[in-house]
Amino acid sequence: MILQDKVALVTGGASGIGRATAIAFGAAGAKVVFSDIRGVEGEETADLIRETGAECLFVKSDVSSEADVRELVQKAIATYGRLDCAFNNAGIDLAVKPLHEQSIEDFDKIMSINARGLFLCMKYEIQQMLMQGAGVIVNNSSTNGLVALPGISPYVASKHAVMGLTRSAALDYAKQGIRINAVKPGPIATELMARSADQMGITFDDLGSMVPMGRMGQATEIAQAVVFLCSDAASYITGQPLTIDGGYTAS
Ligand code: NAD
Repeated sequence: MILQDKVALVTGGASGIGRATAIAFGAAGAKVVFSDIRGVEGEETADLIRETGAECLFVKSDVSSEADVRELVQKAIATYGRLDCAFNNAGIDLAVKPLHEQSIEDFDKIMSINARGLFLCMKYEIQQMLMQGAGVIVNNSSTNGLVALPGISPYVASKHAVMGLTRSAALDYAKQGIRINAVKPGPIATELMARSADQMGITFDDLGSMVPMGRMGQATEIAQAVVFLCSDAASYITGQPLTIDGGYTAS
């Protein structure tokens, strides 16, 4: 198996892309540590991973809290002894409205989870990876880390920040055995996207018809790309975004 005996961490693993990736890491042979702020849904993910025969640890934890993130990484190491792969995925979007109507509170909240939270995760993951002399990180950006959509300026800003952090960190550790990349999903059928579509007054079918391939993506299609980027098959890839969007940003 492509990640046999590796230890892999996922943030925001209670649903959507994070859940699919936690399951895919387990199926690829890794021991999985994953976090979320939602306990019940987190335990459901743990059950799904164990059903595949993989080992896992769920930690209820908030990426916007430095103490929580430090403890999450410590628990991964205390339980499984090391940290080989990390998928920094937890993220939110909030109100859909033009920039002048966006609240400062919403801007700060999105940045504190999507950008600052991801920075915190990398900070503590990398400390462990430096001691090991090896590690792989994948950050979840978005096609909105490259192109904008109207009405979601704080989200777009946060996803551009993820790309800046990814490229900078990749350069910081390129000679120290640590690879750092990002995925940029297009519209993927998850709870987050259902809430956004609802606010915009459009359906998943409408969203799918905006994509050259004529459909939305599935969370598992992002998960497989993350597993690839974490594997030795991607050994010369660092500092890069992998866009998985059915051709959305090709035009
Ligand atoms: P989702 O809402 O299904 O999953 C996000 C998970 O993150 C939830 O389980 C949520 O509880 C958790 N979370 C939220 N705040 C957290 C925090 N502070 N600490 C820990 N966990 C927290 O959404 P999703 O679509 O699977 O989104 C996952 C990531 O993918 C996000 O970063 C999102 O921006 C990104 N993304 C999604 C799409 C899409 O179309 N769905 C497209 C591009 C990028």
